[in-house]
Amino acid sequence: MTWECNGCGACCRALATGLLSDPEAARALDSGDGVCRHLERATNRCTIYETRPACCRVTPAHAPEALTEGCRVLRLAIFREV
Ligand code: SF4
Ligand code: SF4
Repeated sequence: MTWECNGCGACCRALATGLLSDPEAARALDSGDGVCRHLERATNRCTIYETRPACCRVTPAHAPEALTEGCRVLRLAIFREV
């Protein structure tokens, strides 16, 4: 199984849900409505992509199955659809 980010932007909007693995980092990024202060909302583009924090990065330690399921849960929480 492989995993690929589809750019849906759910994870960058889920900072207030408590679903992310690093709640402290999520609080620091939250612009006040659960959306990251570094997200360009119209395009889902991260404006600090090259220097984004560790909590936003996928590493070899992340299993594809866990990433796929995590993204599914986040999309359900934010967009009410997968
Ligand atoms: S929720 Fe997953 S697929 Fe959507 S932008 Fe975040 S990492 Fe990518
Ligand atoms: S720093 Fe970038 S990747 Fe991380 S939550 Fe904010 S917009 Fe998303």
